[in-house]
Amino acid sequence: MIKRMSLISAYIALGCAATVLPVLFSIYIANEDVTRREQRDLRQYAEKAVMRTELVTYQGFAAIADLQAEHGAPCSPEYLGRAAHVIFNYRYVRDAGAYGDGRYLCSPLFGDVRAQDVALPPPRWRSNDGYLVWFQQKNPLSDVREDIQIGRNGEYVSIDPQSYVDVMDPAGRPIATINTDLNSIVALSTGADPDEMLHAWKRAGRVDSDEWNYAVARSTTRALGVVVKGRRTSLLRDWPGLLAMWLSMGVALGAGFGWFAFKRISRQVSFQATLEWVIARKAIDVVYQPIVRLASNECVGVEALARLNLNGRDISPDIFIAVAEQTGLIQPLTDLVLEKTLDELTELLCSRPSFYVSVNVSSEDLRTPRFLKIITAKLARTGIRPAQIRIEATERSFLNADATRQTIAAFRSAGHPVYIDDFGTGYSSLAYLQTFMIDVLKIDKSFVDTIAQQAASSIVAPHIIDMAHELGVEIVAEGIERNEQVEYLLRRGVQYGQGWLFAKAMRREELVAWLEARRASHAPAQPAIQ
Ligand code: C2E
Ligand code: MG
Ligand code: MG
Repeated sequence: MIKRMSLISAYIALGCAATVLPVLFSIYIANEDVTRREQRDLRQYAEKAVMRTELVTYQGFAAIADLQAEHGAPCSPEYLGRAAHVIFNYRYVRDAGAYGDGRYLCSPLFGDVRAQDVALPPPRWRSNDGYLVWFQQKNPLSDVREDIQIGRNGEYVSIDPQSYVDVMDPAGRPIATINTDLNSIVALSTGADPDEMLHAWKRAGRVDSDEWNYAVARSTTRALGVVVKGRRTSLLRDWPGLLAMWLSMGVALGAGFGWFAFKRISRQVSFQATLEWVIARKAIDVVYQPIVRLASNECVGVEALARLNLNGRDISPDIFIAVAEQTGLIQPLTDLVLEKTLDELTELLCSRPSFYVSVNVSSEDLRTPRFLKIITAKLARTGIRPAQIRIEATERSFLNADATRQTIAAFRSAGHPVYIDDFGTGYSSLAYLQTFMIDVLKIDKSFVDTIAQQAASSIVAPHIIDMAHELGVEIVAEGIERNEQVEYLLRRGVQYGQGWLFAKAMRREELVAWLEARRASHAPAQPAIQ
């Protein structure tokens, strides 16, 4: 019972694991998928931002070149007119003019300030190709306004830092533009924290955060880079569709697999457990099928065949014998069949000393003398002769040669004849089998069926019969259903037969009545064999 409970628990656990594991796996995959998508998306956003940064910078360069292209003397009315034109033409340029000796000289915004000494501090950075850059350059006219100022050879342009980070983004993800030589911030979008963005830049975006993802991108032409950040989406909140898809797949797969495994395994387990229970309660029945001497139509013995009925349904011996063999239950089953047979037939066997019963055994029963010892113990003081209990073993039992050879020899020397059952269904040659010194050969029904028919396989039966004669073993033909088969077998010298033509397997009471009826009539009961 405990074994059964623990087995059932194990299968329930297996079923649960089979259901839950694919779901967990699906969630994991979905999460990985979401993270991958988010990171790819953020990287694309960073690339876009860096392109914007380059665009604004190149506009600044172009504006300076335009200013220098053709102008009158610096700060002349033509020059200032030209500068005003540049401001008008270049979207990101807010002011353009001339500087020199650490001072602003003139621009359309300042006017001509050469006489006023408006100081211009030294630039923060100088590019290899001669551009000077002032970051967060306070405009002398305003306390609030800070520009990025790019200058070259005495001309400069002022650019609103916001234009560097003004990238269209519905999610409004923060951006910082970085000077990659100085590792310092050039421009910052609203809501971005300079320290945090710089930290992320220095770590190339690899920052541990449950809330944010970071990505960086670098310009390939200028000393510029950007760092952007995007909120990490909660899988459950923001990917319901994706998650639902993965989840439903996981649940369907898991449930399907779990159901399949549970059904399959529980059927096997419950059948094995039932068989164990049935054997323990001796709830197997035994029926007996007559074996007839063909020449005289006299019933010389019976074969004991096990029967299992579960809830009103007969289970085929081919099934429950196979399960018993696979699950280590065959020995108790063989013992039970012997026990019931002796309980039921002892009287009959004692009253007819030449009548016998043959019992089917499996390879396990032939491996050791265990079963022989049981028979010997049970026969003691019953009056049954050992020759009245015969052993039927199929070809398959002879595979374990050495041990089987010894056990068969022991059965025979104890007086129990040994039969080879279902001969012809395996691959053994009769000559090989005869090295085991068996007494009788039972030709399988499949060959007997072909007798007196035109089938190509019908040549096998005569061949087997001839060989058996040559080797001196007696023959029982199994599964005889037609009179022609009996006639043929008699012509070929086959001594015994078994089959529905004579009788099906019967319970003890029916068997006794059947034997009585035959004896009373003194004549063949069922078949009219000429
Ligand atoms: P088997 O030992 O060759 O038994 C003969 C089988 O052929 C029996 O099937 C029997 O009912 C069937 N049979 C006999 N005459 C005819 C016939 O004229 N027509 C047809 N169609 N069938 C016929 P059953 O009882 O279903 O047993 C099947 C097999 O299960 C047996 O074949 C035997 O190998 C195995 N078996 C049965 N009882 C036991 C047992 O107690 N122990 C072991 N180890 N095996 C058993
Ligand atoms: Mg048999
Ligand atoms: Mg057979």
